Amino acid sequence: MKEIIVTIDGPAGAGKTTVSRSLAERLGFRYIDTGALYRAVALAARRNRVQANDDTALAKICQNLELQYVRTENGLKLMSNGEDVTNKLRSPEITMLASAVSARSVVRQYLLDVQRAMGRQGGAVFEGRDMGTVVFPNAEVKFYLDASGKIRAKRRFLELQEKMGLSLEEVERDLTKRDNNDSTRTEAPLKPAADAIRIDSTDMKIDEVVSLMLDHIQHIQHN
Ligand code: C5P
Repeated sequence: MKEIIVTIDGPAGAGKTTVSRSLAERLGFRYIDTGALYRAVALAARRNRVQANDDTALAKICQNLELQYVRTENGLKLMSNGEDVTNKLRSPEITMLASAVSARSVVRQYLLDVQRAMGRQGGAVFEGRDMGTVVFPNAEVKFYLDASGKIRAKRRFLELQEKMGLSLEEVERDLTKRDNNDSTRTEAPLKPAADAIRIDSTDMKIDEVVSLMLDHIQHIQHN
């Protein structure tokens, strides 16, 4: 398999993470979760008591932040200035703060460079919101994965239920707010790239989505 870049964008709860991880495994590629990078910036901002609209302070945070994915025997870990933050990024508070800081140009510019550096050698599946539109406009294969709002909220609810004890209504409310933030911001709003293959996963199983993607990738590689 040629060492190409595959991008998977879409709203929260569409199944991007599970699909991207599985697809990367099938292709023998690296998997890069770019949402976790925004979450790591949010965590650093919170720890430093920086507000999401304070661009000067955010710039300083970014300047002093080194983010790196490392492969360990327990899976992929995100290191933030040498600290493993992988399990510290999923609280509802960090989730909403990630969405808020991701609208700031200073944060997007910093992560643009980080993400492109991670993609330089190819052979990776990048999951996010603007992978196909902004970060890798020349990616060989682009997907946009969507699903109905109800099913996305339900999936996210089942995922968070054990850890957070949130109600379905709370999860749905947060998801709608985040969708709205992410798709209406001026910089790199969530939207499908013109050349993205759109997949609606509302009535599909993960395996079916991955198979469909593999078919597309093979087709593109042979043409
Ligand atoms: O994908 P995940 O839900 O972890 O992303 C957290 C937040 O990070 C999103 O709500 C979005 O605001 C932001 N994000 C982004 N661009 C990306 C990935 C994530 O703006 N490429």
